[in-house]
Amino acid sequence: MRKKIVAGNWKMNLDYHEGLSLFSEIINMINDEVTGRQEAVVCSPFIHIHSLAHLAKHYTKISLGAQNAHQAESGAFTGEISAKMIKSVGATYVILGHSERRQYFGESNKLLAKKTDTALKNGLKPIFCIGETLQQREANQYFDIIKSQLDEGVFHLGETEFSELVLAYEPVWAIGTGVTASSDQAQEIHAFIRREIAAKYNQDIADATTILYGGSCTPKNAPDLFAQPDIDGGLIGGASLKSRDFVDIVKVFNL
Ligand code: PEP
Repeated sequence: MRKKIVAGNWKMNLDYHEGLSLFSEIINMINDEVTGRQEAVVCSPFIHIHSLAHLAKHYTKISLGAQNAHQAESGAFTGEISAKMIKSVGATYVILGHSERRQYFGESNKLLAKKTDTALKNGLKPIFCIGETLQQREANQYFDIIKSQLDEGVFHLGETEFSELVLAYEPVWAIGTGVTASSDQAQEIHAFIRREIAAKYNQDIADATTILYGGSCTPKNAPDLFAQPDIDGGLIGGASLKSRDFVDIVKVFNL
């Protein structure tokens, strides 16, 4: 059985104190209410990670992640944060290739392939995001777009390295818009991604890869989405800023 994961992406929200307070609520609820083997991940801004990791150290169902990491190991890159630094403060995961990074910071598949290599080398598990824009969906290009994001972003990895990845399918038209992909639309793409992984690597690796759905996921639509055979959890933006909503989404995988 592959791992079920619900990851929250706080984006550039919450000051240090607000972040600690939200996280304390989340860990208490998770401790009291989560009964399955799912993992909750909170991807906070960099400044929170060390303190959140400290708060979470006795809780096995919750892990920390960052939302970006630089492609270089270290050096003269003023203002940047390396994968090694992120790992050293207690994070397990790093989101790479989020559509906001692709759109506002010009991150290409080629750059993201380098970021993926550096994150893996430093012991971080990338949550690698792929997904088409509305224009690409309307032009029926979405299979090609997703295939090229996989080919250029992560399919250079060897089997062992690829097995460390989590993938997230996030249709750009569904992020922060309140419009969710229907469970059938999401399942169609998740099954396609899994077939591509099987073709590139093998069926065992494809079956073991956790593929998350992201895009206006809420406690209301998560049960239907997560019931799909190829959807293994969610990457949650807006709803991860409300402890009740986030934990209710995590609880969709309760036994
Ligand atoms: C995201 O940013 O990864 C995301 C899925 O956002 P939202 O849930 O707000 O659509």
